[in-house]
Amino acid sequence: MQLDNLYQEVILDHYKNPQHKKLSPTYDAQVHHINPSCGDEITLNVTLSGDTVANVSWDGVGCSISQASVSILSDLVLGKTLAQAQEISDSFMALMQSKGTQTGDENLLEDAVALAGVSQYPARIKCALLGWMAFKDASVQALAKNQ
Ligand code: ZN
Repeated sequence: MQLDNLYQEVILDHYKNPQHKKLSPTYDAQVHHINPSCGDEITLNVTLSGDTVANVSWDGVGCSISQASVSILSDLVLGKTLAQAQEISDSFMALMQSKGTQTGDENLLEDAVALAGVSQYPARIKCALLGWMAFKDASVQALAKNQ
């Protein structure tokens, strides 16, 4: 897989220095998502404060794409409202489905635009989306629990 060198660096930096990779002892919801086709696994905890993402933490194993993507996601959604997190997530989904035709909205997606090249590799899209699906699942469960 050939990715732009700068983007490759952003992905490797998140892979080697993952953000929020330490499961918090308390949480509103915990989910465990796997991507069997690659062997990626992510456990993710979410805590909400009202409709704001008060804490996101995770642990996982797998390829650099999956682990970097969940690190980027956790950085992006922390402190955001669920509506803002949804907007970011929708934008990332659209980017992953773009088959390499989009570069992504850097204002919204920040480091996640580094994963734009993954959209050209259908087998790797699930790796990139794993953490995002886990977050979506956990935030829905956390919201339901707090109602
Ligand atoms: Zn993977």
